[in-house]
Amino acid sequence: MDYHINPDGYYGSFGGSYIPEILYANVERLREAYLRIVGEESFRKEFRSLLRDYVGRPSPLYPAKRLSEKYGARIYLKREDLNHTGAHKINNTIGQILLARRMGKTRIIAETGAGQHGVATATVCALMNMPCVVYMGETDIARQALNVRKMEMLGAEVRSVTSGNKTLKDACNEAIRDWCCNPADTHYIIGSTVGPHPYPDMVARFQAVISEEIKWQLTEHEGRDYPDYLIACVGGGSNAAGTFYHYLNDTRVKLIAVEAAGHGIDSGESAATIRLGREGIIHGSRTLVMQTDDGQIIEPYSISAGLDYPGIGPIHANLATSRRADVLAATDNEALQAAFELTATEGIIPALESAHALAALAMIPFHPEEVAVLTVSGRGDKDMDTYLSHFGK
Ligand SMILES: *Cc1c(COP(=O)(O)O)cnc(C)c1O
Repeated sequence: MDYHINPDGYYGSFGGSYIPEILYANVERLREAYLRIVGEESFRKEFRSLLRDYVGRPSPLYPAKRLSEKYGARIYLKREDLNHTGAHKINNTIGQILLARRMGKTRIIAETGAGQHGVATATVCALMNMPCVVYMGETDIARQALNVRKMEMLGAEVRSVTSGNKTLKDACNEAIRDWCCNPADTHYIIGSTVGPHPYPDMVARFQAVISEEIKWQLTEHEGRDYPDYLIACVGGGSNAAGTFYHYLNDTRVKLIAVEAAGHGIDSGESAATIRLGREGIIHGSRTLVMQTDDGQIIEPYSISAGLDYPGIGPIHANLATSRRADVLAATDNEALQAAFELTATEGIIPALESAHALAALAMIPFHPEEVAVLTVSGRGDKDMDTYLSHFGK
């Protein structure tokens, strides 16, 4: 099972590998090696046991009773917020560090926006005793001081990026630049289903543990292994790709991807890339990009740093344009309201990113017998300052 990728790494007309020549050999070696390595029994065994004993998988599939009553459907929450380091990102970083070691790499680099992927990468580097450099925009460093301190305590070097808007897009550019200078010894751990082939496919495979678990967990609860709806937020698309993975060809299942509308789709301040983007190339991949008529990237905006990205993974660009997935958008205010609602009804404080998925519950015309699984991609600890500044408003 995969996302109908062709041998050149295209999903429909999206994807591919648009990289500087100096990286050709490196990316080619990765492309040749990753399928073989992830198929090896010893790799699978080590990946599985770390997911179980270190990350704490399987993550629960929780039947949310009060939320179900409120929205008139049987709603289940896939609790990626309960993973070690607080989000789904660790599934991917564990997979990639095991791959990097088997490929003989001795140094790890990563980019990060809010710092969640940076922390997940620094964590597995501490675990595997590998040196780690994390590129992070100066603006994000100032906004996410706690995650910066965590990365440093975990032994990573956080390099401040001062180009462009000084946020995630600029950190990606710097990480790619580093990789160009150190292609032989360094593995670049990309944090989402973005970047040149084979990254989107590789990251989706590591996150596919989410839908693999949903299948048997849902069978235990409902006596059938598929829901009527799968709902997930999309930044670059990794938690959604993992949630949808084993259901891609099951047309009984409606796939709902929720992007960040910021102040509103037409406000000029949003990160609704699928709705607003046009075909272009960003960070090594042909996909939908928010851009001006002359191809300049438009700076995205969302209250949630994890969704604040001007591109979208090629998998989701294809799922949307082929109409396999429905794309909804939630504004800052709708997400905040949904976060407070989940906290009050179920006692779960979600990440702001996940709150965008929760906001979509109010937009779907459910029937009472329908089953919906919504992935809570992360926990809200990192967003407490934002929540407190809006509390009671
Ligand atoms: C990074 C992040 C996201 C967005 O990334 P995807 O690759 O789209 O999943 C969503 N939720 C949380 C909690 C995150 O940390």
